[in-house]
Amino acid sequence: MQGLPVSELAQRFGTPLYLYDGDAVRDQYLGLRDRLHPVVEIFYSLKANPNISVCALLHRLGARAEVSSMAELVTALEAGVPADQIMFLGPGKSEQEITACLKEDIRAIICESIDELAAIDRLAADLGTRARVVLRVNPSFTVKGSGLTMGGKPRQFGIDEQALFDAEDLPGRHARTDLIGVQAYMGTRILSEEAVAENTRRILDMAERLAERQGFPLDLVDVGGGLGVAYFAQEQDLDVDRLADLVNPIFEEFHRRRPDTRVVMELGRYLVATGGVYVSAVRYVKESMGERFAITDGGTNHHMAAVGIGSFAKRNFPMRLLNRAGGPAAKWNVTGPLCTPNDTLGKGVELADDLRPGDLIGVERSGAYGPTASPVLFLSHGYPAEVLVVDGDAQLVRRRDETEHLTGPQLLHGALTGQR
Ligand SMILES: *Cc1c(COP(=O)(O)O)cnc(C)c1O
Repeated sequence: MQGLPVSELAQRFGTPLYLYDGDAVRDQYLGLRDRLHPVVEIFYSLKANPNISVCALLHRLGARAEVSSMAELVTALEAGVPADQIMFLGPGKSEQEITACLKEDIRAIICESIDELAAIDRLAADLGTRARVVLRVNPSFTVKGSGLTMGGKPRQFGIDEQALFDAEDLPGRHARTDLIGVQAYMGTRILSEEAVAENTRRILDMAERLAERQGFPLDLVDVGGGLGVAYFAQEQDLDVDRLADLVNPIFEEFHRRRPDTRVVMELGRYLVATGGVYVSAVRYVKESMGERFAITDGGTNHHMAAVGIGSFAKRNFPMRLLNRAGGPAAKWNVTGPLCTPNDTLGKGVELADDLRPGDLIGVERSGAYGPTASPVLFLSHGYPAEVLVVDGDAQLVRRRDETEHLTGPQLLHGALTGQR
């Protein structure tokens, strides 16, 4: 990675380990940023990888931040993102979270229900301040091409489009709230440039009609994002040139009509997935009933996505032997330390036929929805180490959990402490 042998990094930081390549993240971000219409602001969704250094890296490149919890908000602020470049989104915000958003005076709270809108308005009044709110819409329409489609279905996210058009005088009934925009998120893992363009066109159109109907100024429209990356055979990465050719004319036309309205794209996976590799070391190799198994020190407790994304048949992430060339390809099941057959990072993966203890296996394209989206506490192995390489310099950006991080928060019930 950036000229550093992964075997040296593994030795220095130990395994299992998430390795993030700052150059790859930068190239992915700038590859899109440089092609997108300048009216578009890119917000990084910390949900995909909430590591503070990853967030700071993207911020240094120009990305803003979209957060969904108190800890993500604090992470973004500590990473150096100014409050006016942060938006807070999520269907179940606590009073504490809403209050923090108001006190920090972040760019906007993205509101997901009429009930929540009332709560935000009331909390703003309590604090003697005003709230800036973007309405999240659950659109009536849906566009095919996402791994998880959002619009056109009953959802806990956002307010039904029809309900927003039917509501009477939302601005008038929320005296402490400035409605400033509209957001919709149509799904994740979108690999079709046409689907992104169609989503964008429809959301911009809907946002304009809604702002007009409710009578609030449209400072920003957040057209979601959900851009995917290819993980599996038969999938193809988005072609950013083609994407730009399709979406930029839509942004340009919108911008000409509404020069004062900013457009936001919120992106998580797209920005960080390709820059990350999960590295685990082979502990044992064995054969069972004619199949080869490489049992590594890492598993699905750190990389749940490797179990499978939205499909019953297991599909493998791209995997590679990292520390040497190795012999001719053979099929391997790469499994971890958990006591469940589901703990399979890869099934029938083509790797060198001479795998042996100490070999390093990399699960590539793993920079998004890694450890924080995995059951890291299962069997009490805890969080893996995370290392980020920036300008050829590899540094630990999260310490691995030690036993006391796992046992420490537990309390022995008082009735069970005495001698018998
Ligand atoms: C999860 C999520 C994102 C980030 O999604 P990606 O597919 O990782 O880009 C953005 N916006 C909303 C509302 C989300 O729920």
